[in-house]
Amino acid sequence: MSIVYGPVPSWRLARSLGVDLTPGDVKTCSFDCIYCQLGRTARPLAERAQFVSLDALAAELEAVRGVGADYVTFSGMGEPTLAANLGEAIRLARATLGLPVAVLTNSSLMTRKDVREDLACADVVVAKLDAPSQQLFEKISRPVVDLSLRDIVEAISLFKAEHKGKLALEIMFVRANKGLAAEMAALARRLAPDEVQINTPLRPCAVTPLSPETLAAVREHFQGLPHVRTVYEGSRPEATPIDLKETRRRRPGASAPRQRNHRTGKE
Ligand code: SF4
Repeated sequence: MSIVYGPVPSWRLARSLGVDLTPGDVKTCSFDCIYCQLGRTARPLAERAQFVSLDALAAELEAVRGVGADYVTFSGMGEPTLAANLGEAIRLARATLGLPVAVLTNSSLMTRKDVREDLACADVVVAKLDAPSQQLFEKISRPVVDLSLRDIVEAISLFKAEHKGKLALEIMFVRANKGLAAEMAALARRLAPDEVQINTPLRPCAVTPLSPETLAAVREHFQGLPHVRTVYEGSRPEATPIDLKETRRRRPGASAPRQRNHRTGKE
């Protein structure tokens, strides 16, 4: 398996079976976020391309038919909207596995009509937005080419108006933006997402996560918005990865399945 990984326990998507349309040894992304669990962006890219064929994806999806999962989630070693065949891949995954499909995107390419059309094929789009100003956007997300935060916000808003599926807004709070929760909440109100996911980097990375108390204080600013939750509030169901090595490349620290003691029946 090199495209499909997991399933992994997710605080927002339960048992999440991953599809990585930018597989490889290094991260392919339009951002170089200061908190990225995959390290620095070794393959910076802001143009779409095809990285895997639909035939290769179809073969891997066939091999995991019947696996216990709640969502197929497009994520992995980079930004999924960079894949020019994202829309077809979403339709293929849903048709093969009969599961709802989610895409985790950094929102950078949503200014493109073809990207919004591809994302509209998904049942759930989780769009990331970490900063209320261009200056902080460049400091936290570190886009690999010149990108306008204002254009990205407009694009998310346009997508929300066009798209009938669920739009979740994910905000990663770190030391650099924790004092701007009110401004982020104002942005969220403008975008009117179906859900707000307040995150902080709990997986190993170069940035220290905020405490549960700090994130709870951040959350207060989002009162009145629908379905607001923090990463500390999410529950994670058990999930057994098909291939632990491939899963850990995308999810450093993913757990091995617990071993059951066959004599006592306990884990
Ligand atoms: S958008 Fe995601 S994959 Fe890309 S650098 Fe940021 S956290 Fe890493």
